Amino acid sequence: MKLATFDTGVGLRTGAVVGDGIVDLTAAGLPSRMIDLIADWSRLEAKARATVDATKPQFKLSQVHLHTPVPDPQKILAIGLNYADHIAESGQARPDKQIWFSKLPNAVNGPYDPIELPKASSAIDYEAELVVVIGKRCRHVSKADAASVVFGYAAGNDVSVRDWQFHTAQWVVGKSFDTHAPIGPWIVTWDEIGDPHALGIRALVNGEMRQNSNTSNLVFNVFDQIAYLSQAMTLMPGDMIFTGTPGGVGMAMKPPSFLKAGDVVRIEIDKIGALEATMRQEK
Ligand code: MN
Repeated sequence: MKLATFDTGVGLRTGAVVGDGIVDLTAAGLPSRMIDLIADWSRLEAKARATVDATKPQFKLSQVHLHTPVPDPQKILAIGLNYADHIAESGQARPDKQIWFSKLPNAVNGPYDPIELPKASSAIDYEAELVVVIGKRCRHVSKADAASVVFGYAAGNDVSVRDWQFHTAQWVVGKSFDTHAPIGPWIVTWDEIGDPHALGIRALVNGEMRQNSNTSNLVFNVFDQIAYLSQAMTLMPGDMIFTGTPGGVGMAMKPPSFLKAGDVVRIEIDKIGALEATMRQEK
């Protein structure tokens, strides 16, 4: 299923995307908060699927405002330097250990909503990433069991304020400006994705292909990442994991090319869909 959070003017609801339409799951008595739907999915999945089978989409996607699927995640974790070509363009050595930072929840943004060019910087960059959505409260998950805690996948843009990112050794502030974690356009449940390490992933700026890779090129794969993180912390339903970006970021272009007001940034992942946002100067 493709599960979305949407609004038609009466508050956030959850829905299932079917073709170019959306079936209102909240109208059928399912939770309006995606995080609640995910947490209770083992009990609610059958009702959600029956609702989709029995209901014609009430809305066209073009008639609703799609929000980020989980507006209120407890955690957004992100791995750095996790595709060989991005490691090379960054002038770094291939890391022995996974490099983790977080994007704070203030940064989440809808799939088609504008991304802010902050007053504080003019070095704003895109990073196309596969995002994992955790489905179950879990700790100490082995690599072999990691697929069992995945609810689904989405596309993400790890928008990065490059000068702020490198003010200090810690990246969290430069990675957590408001609107700098677009995720969506919906969550595709794991059963529709199959192997998460066989997905084409692309970033386009004003129609020009900047990143064009495949999740088969991840250094630490999705299940390595869950196994590592869950040794340290309890992962929760709705937690998001940004799994790294391939080569082709603006910072590595010669000369570097950062995003400007009016630029349109599109992130595409096979089997999931696309984010598309216009860059807008902070007022
Ligand atoms: Mn990243």
